[in-house]
Parts: sequence; C-alpha cells; structure tokens
Amino acid sequence: MFIIMLGPPGAGKGTQARNISKKLNIPHIASGDILRERVRITDDELSKKIREHMLRGELVPDDIVIKIIHDRLSQNDCEHGAVLDGYPRTLAQAKALDAFLESKNKRVEIVINLDVPDDEVIKRLTYRRLCPKCNRIYHLLFNPPKNNELCDICNVKLIQRIDDREDIVKKRLEEYRNRTSSLINYYAEKHILYIVNGVNDINRIFNNIIFLIEEAIKPV
Ligand code: AMP
Repeated sequence: MFIIMLGPPGAGKGTQARNISKKLNIPHIASGDILRERVRITDDELSKKIREHMLRGELVPDDIVIKIIHDRLSQNDCEHGAVLDGYPRTLAQAKALDAFLESKNKRVEIVINLDVPDDEVIKRLTYRRLCPKCNRIYHLLFNPPKNNELCDICNVKLIQRIDDREDIVKKRLEEYRNRTSSLINYYAEKHILYIVNGVNDINRIFNNIIFLIEEAIKPV
C-alpha cells in the first residue's frame, strides 16, 4: 500500500512515517533524508545545486526530485508499497507520482495530512537538535538531552540543521503554503485525503492514523 504523509515541515511526518513503516512492514521513503544523504556522499554539480536550494529553505526543482525518488521507489523493497514522507511536495510531483505508479498498476491509497499551525512548527523546529553521530533527534524544551546539549548516547555536541534556523524555517513554511498545500485539494478530490490533528500525544496521533488506514482498506 502506498501512503503519503502531508503536512508542514515539523508536523511530525517523519516520526509517524517511521512508526507506520514498522507496523505495516513497508519502507519509509523520506525525500529530505535521501537528498541530504546524496549531498553528503556525492560531491558533483547536481549535489551542489540540491544543497543550494536546501540551505535556502527552497524546494529542490521538480525534475531532480522526481528522478531521485522514483529511482528509489523502483527498488524491489517498494514492490508492495511505501510510506512517503516529504514527497510529493508540488502538483507536478503528485502527477508524476500518479503516472509512475499507474505504469506499475499501482496507486496512492491514502494520504494523511498532519495539521499543525505555523507557530507550533516554528517552536518545534527552531529548538530541534540532532546528534551528528547517531542522528538521534532532541528538542531543547520537550525532549532535552540529559547533559547540556550533548547526545545522551554518544556524548557528542548536538547540532542544529542549518535549515532549522528561524529565518529558513519561515521560508520553508512559505514554500509549504505556496506550493504544497494545494495537494490537499488534489487528494481530497480523489477522496483519499484524511486530516489528522498533529498537535497531540505522539502515540495518540499514531493510533488515529492506524485507525484511518484500517478503515480505508476495509472491504465494503
Ligand atoms: P525535509 O527534511 O522533508 O524537511 O526536507 C528538507 C529540504 O529538502 C526541503 O526544505 C527541500 O529543500 C528539500 N526537499 C525535500 N523533499 C522535497 C521535495 N519533495 N521537493 C522539493 N524539495 C524537497
């Protein structure tokens, strides 16, 4: 089953997608992680271009992202589905994904929109820190490390993603409002969109999502 997680940056798509992936035993495809990893391991012109957009909080151009994500979706482990986190983010990407899946006799079955207001997003992202060694994520207010800004496990100084700085977060939110939020209508018209309150206990949000997925796939 192909599931899309929609919602602004910082809505909790990654956390929920990881849990859904475990529960349904389908891969978690996070476009931001895939792009960051490409930029980290490959130092070519394409990576330079991707990095420039990411550092500014702007969307990476459609043709680049579509190619990279569809290559990933073509791998065998996605044969029976995937939970997509951060892709698609534009109408062109959504249409390209539909065409890609259709060519394999598949389709997007359910889209979960995690609804979180802007002020909450800014609070969540600007206090977010991560361990550069194990990638564990902390929040300086809600989930702080035991020792002043050091990873509990690696004892390494935590870092802030450059695009989690407040000015860049505001740009990312602007991109979301201008370009990604139109996908809500796109999928609503296909009757596969479900809206979930993203300001809630993480486990409760997860249970709500699983309930919706089970309802959506129930035979009528
Ligand atoms: P994320 O980790 O999902 O917040 O993504 C981080 C950054 O990666 C975004 O601000 C964009 O620059 C880029 N990015 C991730 N996914 C996409 C996408 N589907 N389309 C365009 N750019 C993307």
